[in-house]
Amino acid sequence: MRPDRIFGTATAQSPRDLPMTNARLRAVLYARYSSDLQNERSIDDQIALCRIYAEREGYTVTKVYSDKAKSGATLFDRDGLIELIADAKKRLFDMVVVESLDRLSRDQEDLAAVYKRLEFAEVEIRTLNEGKATSVHVGLRGLVGHLFLRDLGAKVRRGHTGRVKEGKIPGKVAYGYRAVVGKPGEREIDPDQAQVIRRIFEEYADGKSPIAIAEDLNREGIPGHNGKPWQWPRLTGGPRALLTNRIYLGEIHWNNWRNVRNPDTGKVNKRPTAPEERVVVKVPHLRIILDELFEEAQAVRIARGKKQKIPPKGQRRPWQRNGSLLAGLLRCETCGSSMVRGQGDRGGRPRVICTSAKVGGCQHTKSYDEQMLESVVLNGLHTQLADERLINEFVQAYHSERAVAERAARADLEGTKRRLTEIEAGMMRLVGFLEKGTMAEDIIASRMKDLETERAALRERERLALEATNIVELHPKAIERYRQAIATLQEDLASGRRPESRAAFRNLVDHVLVKPTEKRAPYEVTIFGRLGALLGLDLYPAKRTPREILVFCH
Ligand SMILES: [Zn+2]
Repeated sequence: MRPDRIFGTATAQSPRDLPMTNARLRAVLYARYSSDLQNERSIDDQIALCRIYAEREGYTVTKVYSDKAKSGATLFDRDGLIELIADAKKRLFDMVVVESLDRLSRDQEDLAAVYKRLEFAEVEIRTLNEGKATSVHVGLRGLVGHLFLRDLGAKVRRGHTGRVKEGKIPGKVAYGYRAVVGKPGEREIDPDQAQVIRRIFEEYADGKSPIAIAEDLNREGIPGHNGKPWQWPRLTGGPRALLTNRIYLGEIHWNNWRNVRNPDTGKVNKRPTAPEERVVVKVPHLRIILDELFEEAQAVRIARGKKQKIPPKGQRRPWQRNGSLLAGLLRCETCGSSMVRGQGDRGGRPRVICTSAKVGGCQHTKSYDEQMLESVVLNGLHTQLADERLINEFVQAYHSERAVAERAARADLEGTKRRLTEIEAGMMRLVGFLEKGTMAEDIIASRMKDLETERAALRERERLALEATNIVELHPKAIERYRQAIATLQEDLASGRRPESRAAFRNLVDHVLVKPTEKRAPYEVTIFGRLGALLGLDLYPAKRTPREILVFCH
C-alpha cells in the first residue's frame, strides 16, 4: 500500500486530494509591475491574463494582490506579496496564479523562500505558460533570475570583460548612441543626440551651470536619456555622470564600479573596483567629443568642485531670486550674442545690453530698460505669433515635414518589430538550452544579457517610431484655439494672475531679437516662437522631438 493512502483521511482537506471535477478551487492572483524592465506588461494586463487562465481552469478568484514599481530583486517593501503569504498561512485560498515565476521574485533565495512557504500552506503556484510550478521550475527560474539579475556574478562578468575587449558594450545604451540592430553589444552614434552631447560639453566648458544647461534643454523640449527630462545632477554627479563619461572620447571603461546589494535593506551600493580589474578599450568610431573639449570640461568641473559657495538666502541678488521673464531669451540683432543685465540705471531699474558689446566686440552698445522691453514683447506677442499668414506657412511646412518623418518611422518600425520577434524567439531557445542542460550556463547568461540589452534598445526605438507615426493632425479649429491661447497668455502675463503663465511663455517663445534703434526711439523686437507650441496647443508639453523644435519666425 502506498504511504499517502494510509494518511489519506488526515489530509482530505488538502485541495490536491479533492477530485478536480466537483471542486471549485479558491484562487488568488498576483501581479507585479517592475520599474527596471522597460515596457513591461501593466498590472491590469497581467491580472486580466491570470483571470482568463483561472476561469479556464475552473477556479474561483477570491482576491487580487499586486505590487507596483518594485524591482523584484528583493522582498523588502513588497506589501502585496507579504500579505499574500500571510493569507496563505491562514489557508484562505488554494492557488496562486501569476503570469510567470519571476513576478514573485527574481532573486533565487527569495523565490525559493516564497515557494517553500506556499508549499507548506498547501497552496499551489500556477503560471500561465508552465502551469503548476514545481521545485524544479523554481530552482531553474531562480537560477536564471539570479544570473541575469546580478551583474557581479563572476561568470557573467568574465563573459562581459571578453566582449568589452572586442569593443562591445554590455549594459545600457548611453545617451548619444543607439544599439545596432542585429549586432548585440554594438553601438553607433545617434547624430541628433551626439549634437546635444557636444552642446552640453561646450556650454559647460564655457562656464554655464549644469542647472542652466538642463533647464534650457528641457525648455527647448529636447528629450534626455530614454525620452525623459534632463536632470542636472546627472550631468556631473555619480559614476554615470554624462560630463565624465569617457565613452564620448571613444573609450570603453569597464568594471570601474561594482554593485553590492545590502542583504538587510535590499538597497544597491556602488563601490569602486581595484585598478587591476578595470578594462579600457578604444572604440574610435564612437568618439563624439575631442580630447581638448573633454579636458576643458574636466578642468571646469574640478575647479567648481573646490569652491562651491552658494550665497545664503537673504543675501542673494534680486535677479537670483526673481528672474526676468525674458532672461536668457534676448539676442542682439547685430551680432547674435545673448543680451544680459548690465549696469542698472540710477533708480536701480535693470537694463540689458549685448554681451559682446560689453567687451567691445559689437557696435550695438545701446542698453534697454528691461521692464519696458518686457512690455514691448508682451504687446507684440499676439500680433507676431498669431499672424494668419504666418500660421498658414507653418502648417504647410509642418505637413511636409511630418510626411517625411512618418515614412521614415514606418520603415524603421517594421524592421524593429521583426528583430524584436527574432530576439524573443532567441531568448526562448536559450531557456530551452538551460532546461535541457545542453549549453554552458555562463554562455547562456552572457547571450541572454546581450539579447535583453538589444531588446530594451529596440523597444525604445519602437516607442519613438510609434510616437512619430502618431502625430496629431493640425485642425483649423486647433489653430483658432492657438490664437486664443496666445491672447489669454498675453492677458495673464500682463495681469500677473497665473504664476504658471511665465513657464508657458518661455515654452512658447524661443528667443527675442532686439533691433538697435536710435536713442530714445521706441524699442523694436522680433519674437521667435516655437513650432511645437503651435502644433501641440498645449503650452506645457512634456517632451518634444528635436524635429518639433524648429523655430518659426515672423
Ligand atoms: Zn551684439
